[in-house]
Amino acid sequence: MENGFDLCSPAFVRELMARYGVSFRHEFGQNFLINRAIPERIARAAVGDSDDACVLEIGPGIGTMTRELSRLANTVLAVEIDASLIPVLEYTLSDCENVTVLNRDFMKCPLDELTRSAFGGREYRVCANLPYYITTPIIMKLLEESDGRLRSVTVMVQTEVAARLTAAPGTADYGAITAAVAYYGRAKRLFAVSPGSFMPAPKVTSTVVSIEIYSPEERPVRPIDEETMFRVISSAFGQRRKTLPNAISAGFPEISKSDAADILASLGYDPRVRGEALAVPDFARIADAISERRGQAAV
Ligand code: SAM
Repeated sequence: MENGFDLCSPAFVRELMARYGVSFRHEFGQNFLINRAIPERIARAAVGDSDDACVLEIGPGIGTMTRELSRLANTVLAVEIDASLIPVLEYTLSDCENVTVLNRDFMKCPLDELTRSAFGGREYRVCANLPYYITTPIIMKLLEESDGRLRSVTVMVQTEVAARLTAAPGTADYGAITAAVAYYGRAKRLFAVSPGSFMPAPKVTSTVVSIEIYSPEERPVRPIDEETMFRVISSAFGQRRKTLPNAISAGFPEISKSDAADILASLGYDPRVRGEALAVPDFARIADAISERRGQAAV
């Protein structure tokens, strides 16, 4: 216990919440960490060896992991949607001078605006015990809005989601989110966390995942048009039971099934191939062929 804030003690947390008149809000995915070993372990994984890291935390809750981040990092920005937790955070983080708390919905904050005001032009990392109701949209927002300053994303998610984020092509867990993550960075599973580590305990097991974000130059492919590549990916997985020519034609109404089959054949793909067997470089090649065809049609 530091400074009287024993945020991993269920009795202390209950007393604190009663004192501030707040209760756990299921609609915000509130499951607070109470296993003493975990907040520091996640914060260390996020900060790495750096002694001047800037960290954005999404959803500080009552500040359990925020205190660890404050100790290990140079500057911490914590964005919390639940206004009723702000007075609690003012109290539990009162001795953490390098932490700024904002009462905002992360999904409504442009990442660039948020991080420039807190970190200037410096690079930063994201660390979060993510609310399960909104895990994938938060990860996609981070990846899509990252601009070269975001170095890594270390997040606790449901174990099933961790499996999807890190799956290999051709496996049952491989999907559109896997391909998107593989385009933007390198995802790795770090460790599992049991339901009893949280208050209240969720019904599922959690896993901490880290995504090392590539700079734009390090990405595995450079498609002519990113948007077309993501449309190919979402078509391929949106229509999982269809073969790829049918799925592409469904996702690109201007391309007939036979034209889609011709495009794939010209690239050497078997017409019976399914999206889940393809990796990011395959999606980029198909997207480039579609972009080039579009360019020729416009001439
Ligand atoms: N970090 C704390 C911990 O580990 O004990 C709390 C984690 S709890 C799983 C998720 C937190 O995210 C809650 O505090 C919740 O209110 C907050 N949250 C949920 N949706 C949010 C959003 N859209 N923007 C910011 N915070 C959000």
